[in-house]
Amino acid sequence: MMTSTDIRNSFINYFKKNQHEHVPSSSLIPENDPTLLFANAGMNQFKNTFLGLEPRSYTRAVTVQKCVRAGGKHNDLDNVGFTARHHTFFEMLGNFSFGDYFKKEAIRLAWNFLTNELQIPKDKLYVTVFETDDEAAEIWHQQEGVPKDRIFRFGEKDNFWRMGDVGPCGPCSEIFFDHGPQYGTIADPYKSIAAGEDRYIEIWNLVFMQFYEEAPGKRTSLPKPSVDTGAGFERLVAAVQGRHNNYKTDIFKAIMEKGLSFFSSQSLEYFHGIEDRCLGDKEFAGQADTKQALEQLSALRVLADHCRAVSFLIADGALPSNEGRGYVLRRIMRRAIRYGRKLSTQHSFLSAMSEVLIAQMSEFYPELTTRKSHILSTIRDEEARFLQTLDNGTQILTDEIKKLKSQNKNIISGETLFKLYDTYGFPLDLTALMAAEEGLQVDEAAFEKQMQAAKEKAKASWKGKSLQTDEKHLIELSQKFSKTPTKFVGYDSLESSAYVL
Ligand code: ATP
Ligand code: MG
Ligand code: MG
Ligand code: MG
Repeated sequence: MMTSTDIRNSFINYFKKNQHEHVPSSSLIPENDPTLLFANAGMNQFKNTFLGLEPRSYTRAVTVQKCVRAGGKHNDLDNVGFTARHHTFFEMLGNFSFGDYFKKEAIRLAWNFLTNELQIPKDKLYVTVFETDDEAAEIWHQQEGVPKDRIFRFGEKDNFWRMGDVGPCGPCSEIFFDHGPQYGTIADPYKSIAAGEDRYIEIWNLVFMQFYEEAPGKRTSLPKPSVDTGAGFERLVAAVQGRHNNYKTDIFKAIMEKGLSFFSSQSLEYFHGIEDRCLGDKEFAGQADTKQALEQLSALRVLADHCRAVSFLIADGALPSNEGRGYVLRRIMRRAIRYGRKLSTQHSFLSAMSEVLIAQMSEFYPELTTRKSHILSTIRDEEARFLQTLDNGTQILTDEIKKLKSQNKNIISGETLFKLYDTYGFPLDLTALMAAEEGLQVDEAAFEKQMQAAKEKAKASWKGKSLQTDEKHLIELSQKFSKTPTKFVGYDSLESSAYVL
């Protein structure tokens, strides 16, 4: 069986063989793009090349791009641990044509890679095209022999891509892998895909940049159309290794085993076996022991995911802080620390798992080794800081939930949310997650009001002093450690700006 390392290498080599320049991943912290929270797709680093502003010495490129989708336009944080296919950090495999080849070649290259290089059986693959893109549908059918009933048409939401409100745009074509009927409830593949079920999993998205949009709806054809593709590495590995869930591939094995060793003497296979058995055995699935094991497995997956995001983000120069990018990092870390605390009160999962991750991935990502001690000490500091208040905060939340339940209420007040945030360091999304586990909701609007009031108060009492001192200090620190420094660009465009104090 191909290992994940084999698959990554075969992707790079295949496209190199097809005259693509292998370009390294860019940093997770975008260097010149204040509108982007973290790198979230392979095309980010080529944005200006697609726009014609930054010529390159090559017209074809292949990359393995580090991506984080935990905020901004793409936020998969809440999916992690609940779907088989989402991570906050993942690697995106991509091939690019800058005015070189177009649809025919892009489709040929992708299909050939999947079905010949990786030997994925054709009868497990389905494709989608944009509703009016007859050209792409025709190529899939005529050129590659994909049966018409395996080619689905979707609208703007799923199969049309835009760089922004104006700029290059065009139809896309996505490739789905069928993991089998046991993973879906809807028999019709088109409907199952449309519903976003986990049976048919999107592995590759081919974007055909064909138009330039000057204003909404006003499009002209690009003289030299381009191609941007993105394939989820972990999803591809899962398909090749015959695993439905990305977290069951060799990518996650060692870090999950490390975490597991802290709270169970059972093997990881034992937990996977329980999950598999639930598919066909409702009674077993309903048992309390089973539910507990599945909860533990899910927490372990969240920890494994977050440990990767945290380690790679710190390696690229992010530091936990109370605003902007640093706050997104802090939210991920605190979420992970709390999941770890639930699994065991004795151990610190995140730093131990990170050490295993660094050992495993540093061959391809040497920055993990270079920054190892910084990554681990940053994680340990944050663990120490949050563990001081986590238990007391949890107690307060538990009491509040008990009280609300006895009153038949189900919304946690802004006051409690703010107290947990301000005194105990609970990010709102963490409190919301903990509340949801008990079937309760949070009053987000009331929390925002409290935040606003606190901000005004802070402003008034800080008059004369620079409010940005803390932020500047953190950025200087981060620059000291990083080749690709976090620039202060103002975070107005970032989602988490609401949390700036
Ligand atoms: P999905 O619909 O499953 O959320 P997407 O359409 O949002 O995926 P794209 O923006 O098309 O994803 O990204 C290109 C590829 O990157 C996808 O085809 C998928 O294989 C992978 N991918 C996207 N988001 C994630 C994620 N959160 N975790 C792992 N892989 C991802
Ligand atoms: Mg998505
Ligand atoms: Mg999609
Ligand atoms: Mg997609």
